[in-house]
Amino acid sequence: MVKLVFLGAPGTGKGTYSERISPKLGIPHISTGDIFREAVAKGTELGKKVKEHLENGTLVPDEITIQVLKERISEPDCKNGFILDGFPRTLEQARALDQITDIDLVILLDLPEDLIIKKLTGRRVCEKCGKIYNVADISYGTLRMPPMLPKNPGGVCDECGGKLIQREDDTEKVIKDRLRVYHQLTEPIIEYYKEKGNLMKVEVDAPADEMAEKILKRIKERLKNEKRL
Ligand code: ADP
Repeated sequence: MVKLVFLGAPGTGKGTYSERISPKLGIPHISTGDIFREAVAKGTELGKKVKEHLENGTLVPDEITIQVLKERISEPDCKNGFILDGFPRTLEQARALDQITDIDLVILLDLPEDLIIKKLTGRRVCEKCGKIYNVADISYGTLRMPPMLPKNPGGVCDECGGKLIQREDDTEKVIKDRLRVYHQLTEPIIEYYKEKGNLMKVEVDAPADEMAEKILKRIKERLKNEKRL
């Protein structure tokens, strides 16, 4: 049983690394952002309630988000644990999560803000399966973050053949609003987990596959030391 949270500003790679680490640990990757986007695409009741927030980069109200998360982690595929990506995002969500379950480790991803903006404007996602790609090349000094391009030509996803698109909230204006929201509402959670003693900070400075390996190794070491794995 391993229950992990990926924390960090938008664009630090929470989705990218969760996507790679989840199959290796045999636990699902749960992104509240993906759940909301799917609801909007399908036009469900939930989708109607959250649409505007997603477009503007503001947060979906805690009450709705906590309920969605609670239902998702009670599904059978979460019996051996899960990776949460994009939840919690407010102190209230963090406290609610503590009432529902115990989190083993919170991984805080750290990347300077100018690079975050570059990464987010370069991000492309598969319209069908949500797989993440990136056209931005961030390599200077000790940083090695080359583009993550599909192997196949034609702007389609390697996994499912779906069309690669730019997310509507990945425009410079909405990115700046999302970063503001992160500093104001999400950053206080860092202190909360620091005090609880389950926070592990990781600098983002290498290609995605290498980063995923590095993070997985550190997760295993840390949980082994704590005799949780
Ligand atoms: P990113 O981390 O790149 O900003 P996400 O896919 O995690 O993107 O989230 C996209 C949008 O979904 C957010 O801007 C917000 O409107 C909504 N959202 C996702 N997770 C939460 C959450 N835990 N609480 C409130 N709103 C959320």
